[in-house]
Amino acid sequence: MKKTITGVQSFCKEKGFVFPNSILYGGNGLAGVWDYGHLGVELKNNIKSSWWSHFIYMNENVIGIDASILSKKQVWDASGHTQNFTDVLVKCEKCNGSFRADHLIEDVLKIQTDGMSAEKINELIKEKKITCPGCKGAFGEAKPFNLLFETNVGPIESDESKAILRPETAQLIFSNFKLVQNSSRKKLPFGIAQIGKAYRNEISPRNFLFRSREFEQMEIEFFVDPKDEACELKDISEMLKEKVLVWTEDMQKKELEEKAYSFDELIKKKIIKERWLAYWIWQYIVWFKKIGIKNENLRIRQHLTEELSHYSSQTFDIEYRFPFGFKEIVGIADRGQFDLTQHQKFSGQNQEILNNKEEKVIPHCIEPSSGLDRIFLSLLFENADTFKDDKGADYTIMHFEKSLSPVKAAVLPLVNKLKTEAKEVYTQILDLGINVQYDTSGSIGRRYARQDEIGTPFCITVDYESRDDKCVTLRDRDTKKQERIKIKDICRVLKERLYNKTHK
Ligand SMILES: [Zn+2]
Repeated sequence: MKKTITGVQSFCKEKGFVFPNSILYGGNGLAGVWDYGHLGVELKNNIKSSWWSHFIYMNENVIGIDASILSKKQVWDASGHTQNFTDVLVKCEKCNGSFRADHLIEDVLKIQTDGMSAEKINELIKEKKITCPGCKGAFGEAKPFNLLFETNVGPIESDESKAILRPETAQLIFSNFKLVQNSSRKKLPFGIAQIGKAYRNEISPRNFLFRSREFEQMEIEFFVDPKDEACELKDISEMLKEKVLVWTEDMQKKELEEKAYSFDELIKKKIIKERWLAYWIWQYIVWFKKIGIKNENLRIRQHLTEELSHYSSQTFDIEYRFPFGFKEIVGIADRGQFDLTQHQKFSGQNQEILNNKEEKVIPHCIEPSSGLDRIFLSLLFENADTFKDDKGADYTIMHFEKSLSPVKAAVLPLVNKLKTEAKEVYTQILDLGINVQYDTSGSIGRRYARQDEIGTPFCITVDYESRDDKCVTLRDRDTKKQERIKIKDICRVLKERLYNKTHK
């Protein structure tokens, strides 16, 4: 596998992680839409369950929901999406090609375009004489383009039947806020979490899973008392010591490189103003460590003032070091009281709750929001070890964190004659409820290589000796160590080695 975006994309297709949607009908398939194959689903589900356990089960004040993809247009009128959820589009007047203007400018001029307005983009296109990359034709005027997918619900089309495919999971948390709070009787501070699909009609989807039109989010809306924002902040002594690479607004404007800071410094220097914002950034850093993403490949980027939504006082991205540069995989925004206030206004339903002093308040909200497919993609880059083997052939080992691996173990009879014995071992391991493969085809070396390539942590070989000593050979993907283990102990050993590390 080549560690480039196209290399990873073809690896995913070939091995059964991710396929281009509708490829059967030609071209490159439906642009910006991807189908996950068996190994992809396994890896994705493992990321989701690790996330759910870290952010929901281990934070006793966070509870989950799973809302629908479709909802009434009013939800998105209140959130501002029907009006303002736009990117700037430019069209070539000669070939009619459409481009996302900020990306076009980034590509041609190699400058940052975060928060750039349509006016500024038009100026730049004229001033720098930027032309169509396809045909060198001239561009028409750059205009905002709304990214929402709209549809009709029911047989009769009317204003009432209009529905929107959600562009984020967040808004459904806000529109269900009172129902969740009433039924759970949660007191501030508390959070509501959700994992689910979202849809954006991206002008130019690109970089494989990084920017697609259908994708999955893992979001939390964390509500705090606006009159006591530091309320019940947990023990943060561990957090204060943690160091991260940070790229502040100031560094970006002065074109300086990112620098390592401890959370203690970030709070003291007021780089992060809100302590809950720091807490959730830290929680992600801790989780990334757990799932095997190295700290040195992560950077915290502060949003520029002109990039911030009008209601947000501060937003930080956690970026991963992709081959195409540091790019956002998590956004942590201070959304203030904007969303609940808007829903109160548009629905006419009171959204206040009682704080711990029995005063009515609209909670202040911190939003840690991540892209599941982007994290999936980061894990492929992070874990791929590629080299030439003894024979000069390409060899790949995916060093996934063991509990995340799509296949946890493979049972390999040395020869077909040992099928009965090997099947018994296989059946025994199946009882653990893990994804285990049984593979008889090709030489044992070839079978090890296939499992290394998809990141299977353990291979279990059944050989002639197994008949006498009732043992199998357990091979470790990372150390390559092989040891004899009693068949009766194999389940216990697997369980210990697969999960102990993550449960520390
Ligand atoms: Zn053109």
